[in-house]
Amino acid sequence: MTSPANRCGRFAKRPPKRDTDPMARWLLVLACVAHVPRAARAQPSAESSASERLAMVDPPAAREARPAPSPSTSHGVPDRGRLSSAVPLEPTPHLFVRQSRGAAQFGTAELVGLIQRAAAAVAQAHPGPRLVAGDLSRARGGRAPPHRSHQSGRDADLGLYVLDASGQPATLDRFVSLRRDGCGEAAGARYCFDVERSWALVAAMVSDPIARVQYVLIAPDLRRRLLAEGERRRAPAELLARVALVTEPHAGSHSHRSHFHVRIYCPPDDRPGCIDEPPYHAWYEGTPAPPTPAVRGMRARQRRARAREQARAAARAARHAARARPARRAPAAPPDPAAELATP
Ligand SMILES: [Zn+2]
Repeated sequence: MTSPANRCGRFAKRPPKRDTDPMARWLLVLACVAHVPRAARAQPSAESSASERLAMVDPPAAREARPAPSPSTSHGVPDRGRLSSAVPLEPTPHLFVRQSRGAAQFGTAELVGLIQRAAAAVAQAHPGPRLVAGDLSRARGGRAPPHRSHQSGRDADLGLYVLDASGQPATLDRFVSLRRDGCGEAAGARYCFDVERSWALVAAMVSDPIARVQYVLIAPDLRRRLLAEGERRRAPAELLARVALVTEPHAGSHSHRSHFHVRIYCPPDDRPGCIDEPPYHAWYEGTPAPPTPAVRGMRARQRRARAREQARAAARAARHAARARPARRAPAAPPDPAAELATP
């Protein structure tokens, strides 16, 4: 007879410590359910079904290249988490690391490696400027103002590559915020989107053999330029689809006009203490850890706060509409014969 562990494939590598523990049994059931191919699950989300259509499998060579588990560990979720045995993001010839007051230049080994590998890949294909890295997480994670996330070593802000006024690649030590025309000013000079290098950066990140990218937040108009560049370069359809999926607009995308906000999934050896949340793209490895009660409570509070804010916004809009509407004239009262008589 097949054991539950064998039926669950990869889960067999991590059996629960005590078979009699009800929580462990529940985790096993959850892991088995999660291990069912996504196409077979009921009501897949829009993202997961889009991911499923990709049906991408990493080449065996890439899997064999996977190094031993790293000592760095991401804990919790990116907006309520921490980091242990963090790795500092060191500058390289292709990478400038911007220092911030919060000293948020630490990440998991997987995130730091991803940034360094992607910067090197861009420099190899298009020599010249450096990638500008902004905040990652603090050495022990936790709150990293002004960010809400960036707490667990899985988020990084990476500057957009830009060209100077003469069309040459610009080497900068800062981010440049770009308007809808694709250009912006910094330190009195004008810069425009270097879509060629920026495409190369995102393409390198989503093709990374080790880190798995979940999100790349970028303003929708800049995203359109990026995808158009991929099409212009006749990038493989799978690569275009990956970039389109990770850059899909989210609530925070619109404000990302100077940098990409990149988030990676939990490295498999950091689970179950590291907690992923949807969407799960086709390249997600293994089984997500279930959220802890603390995370579930935080998410419930966030949902209630959002609902309150939406109710307040609706009330404000209703008041505004009522004020904007021309005051309806009250129907004229019939003349009061007594008043008419009293009028001199
Ligand atoms: Zn960010």
